[in-house]
Amino acid sequence: MHKVNGTAVKSKILIVEDEAAIRTGLVDVLVYHGYAVEEAATGTAGLAMARTGQFDLVLLDVMLPEINGFEVCDKIRQQDSDLAIIMLTAKNMDEDIIQGLALGADDYVSKPFSIAQLLLRIQAVLRRTQAVEDQLEFIYLGKSVEINCLNLSGQNEAESINFTRREINLLRYLHSHSERPVSRDELLHKVWGYANNIELETRTVDIHIAKLRRKLEPEPAKPRFLVTIRGAGYRLMHSHQTKSQ
Ligand code: CA
Repeated sequence: MHKVNGTAVKSKILIVEDEAAIRTGLVDVLVYHGYAVEEAATGTAGLAMARTGQFDLVLLDVMLPEINGFEVCDKIRQQDSDLAIIMLTAKNMDEDIIQGLALGADDYVSKPFSIAQLLLRIQAVLRRTQAVEDQLEFIYLGKSVEINCLNLSGQNEAESINFTRREINLLRYLHSHSERPVSRDELLHKVWGYANNIELETRTVDIHIAKLRRKLEPEPAKPRFLVTIRGAGYRLMHSHQTKSQ
């Protein structure tokens, strides 16, 4: 088991492509350009990996064994609304392109594609998806808690509160994924910037959650907002972006 210090976060890309030559070529190029990369050769394996929540972007081939790329895209979207997806389509398949984008892919690249073009698309999509979380200004919890993400301050039922930058990033991430519980590993990767595939033995996440509960919860021992989902992680409940009356 390793323990690591936080390092600069590499965006993490999952490649789902059954043709080994293309897949391997993509892995090499993307690793060379500074991305962390994992690969899957079937729709089923790709979907299972995408659902772990550890990726920033999926490069998804259309024609795949077991489950095709459109179905994988659709299933990812049912669970995760902001995992970036770029479809790899066959040349001149206009209908495919439209279908893919309608199912919630962020972009598509037609085969055969140039590496330069693909890299530009990846950068653009990542910029777009990452900007959404950064722009989030206010988060409200229930009727009484207000969190100002820009100036790291807020208000609970009783008093004004201050947050650290890390606490705000943690709240933003949980809010952006509030439709599901988020695991400690995912938080360590996405909020703390730890590399993936390293088994971490750390109580950092739990300690931050406990601190936030004392700031936000009327009864920290019986949390209403920052809820523990046994075996799955943490989930932010009753959060919204506009003030309720
Ligand atoms: Ca294929």
